[in-house]
Amino acid sequence: MEPLDASIRGLPLSKLRAGSLIASAVIRTLTSDAGSAATGRPARARVVVVGAGAIGLAVALQLRRAGVDDVVVIDRNSSAGMGSTSRANGGVRAQFTTPVNIVFSQFTIEKLRELHELSAGHVGFKRVGYLFLTGSDAGEVALRRAWELQRSLGVDVEWLSAAGVIEKAPFVDVDGLAAATFCASDGLIDPHGVASALSAEARRLGTRFVFDTEVVSVAAGPPRVRTTTGDIETEFVVNAAGPFACALAATAGIDLPVVTRRRNLACTERVPGIAGDIPMCVDNDTGVLIRREGAGFLIGFSDPGDPPSTDTGFDPAFLDAIAARVGNRFPFLEDVPISPRKCWAGLYPETPDHHAIVDAPAQLPWFIQCAGFGGHGIMHSFAAGQAVTELITESRCTTFDLHPLRLNRFDEPGAMVETAVL
Ligand SMILES: Cc1cc2nc3c(=O)[nH]c(=O)nc-3n(C[C@H](O)[C@H](O)[C@H](O)COP(=O)(O)OP(=O)(O)OC[C@H]3O[C@@H](n4cnc5c(N)ncnc54)[C@H](O)[C@@H]3O)c2cc1C
Repeated sequence: MEPLDASIRGLPLSKLRAGSLIASAVIRTLTSDAGSAATGRPARARVVVVGAGAIGLAVALQLRRAGVDDVVVIDRNSSAGMGSTSRANGGVRAQFTTPVNIVFSQFTIEKLRELHELSAGHVGFKRVGYLFLTGSDAGEVALRRAWELQRSLGVDVEWLSAAGVIEKAPFVDVDGLAAATFCASDGLIDPHGVASALSAEARRLGTRFVFDTEVVSVAAGPPRVRTTTGDIETEFVVNAAGPFACALAATAGIDLPVVTRRRNLACTERVPGIAGDIPMCVDNDTGVLIRREGAGFLIGFSDPGDPPSTDTGFDPAFLDAIAARVGNRFPFLEDVPISPRKCWAGLYPETPDHHAIVDAPAQLPWFIQCAGFGGHGIMHSFAAGQAVTELITESRCTTFDLHPLRLNRFDEPGAMVETAVL
């Protein structure tokens, strides 16, 4: 996390001004040998998963649970979960607007709940619910359509009046509220806890991890990954490189339509007078979301106008953006100081329709792409892992309809777009 400029420390949102910081990723040159004792890199493996974030870890875990031997996870960082996973907000919700995103969440939330039990609470799973709010007629129509779809798929979502909103979140300004929905089984997890619980369980089941090792390219004939410490021959490669999946795919000549954008989060100092658990509250009209974080609140907002970037430094301009919006439904936060040590940014790898890609290209059926999860990769991690496992063990996925996540959909008309993008 980048430190904040001293001039903005402790100021209320309305007093803050813009700036930016730059970060970059580098792909190094390759060497080749028969294996590396220093990093634990084997010379061959049945499946190589590139990326030890929530997606790669869940892929490895589901593969091992299905009895697939010889699974290796490679990451250029020195431990698991240090990429986007470490920067997530920690929300999990089934309140999406397309069937595939809803069922991916349902599957994953249940598996995260099980992992929470299995890991003696490491996952930090809390069913506090998600509350969506809108004050416009168009917003009400969209919310009703989503609510009907969610309920048709078995998600227990309530349609709330203003009085119902006040009951769940008395601090929300319901003036002009047109509609709201609430799902009690949505909630929060601890992203670091998820990464450590996933990697511990995957390791316990025999997954091998190779850290401090970058995959430089993926090559055919026979399939192999070329790393900074040498090659690994393999039968399958899973691209779970998160924001860098596009660069990795390109090394094998595959064009992944994934654009990476910086997303910021900021936390306030202590807010007195609000006790107990509160839902994740989403103002659909401004895009601002809030949840409790310690004694204060976390504020999120994904500006659809943000340009592509791989900068992970916190952008102080974000504070202007939320200052202009947070008062719409959450005026109680307008004059609360921001905590300078609790502001950070990370990367959303986004596809044009805000659905992930879980598919292998026809010309390289052994190179499975599992990327483009935007801001919902933790809440879709187990489903992605299950889907990839079935592609490897059965050559097709039967648990989910992966058609909406196919690689070549972007050239076809009639895209199904996810609109509940936070
Ligand atoms: C600000 C923010 C808030 C978010 N909030 C939520 C949320 O509330 N809920 C939710 O579900 N999701 C959220 N997300 C998204 C979530 O963090 C990710 O989708 C999820 O963690 C899955 O990430 P990943 O495994 O795809 O990528 P990452 O966690 O980035 O993992 C990819 C890994 O691949 C490695 N890698 C990349 N290229 C190479 C290479 N060439 N060689 C070796 N290793 C490589 C990286 O080092 C990295 O560790 C948020 C993200 C951000 C940035």
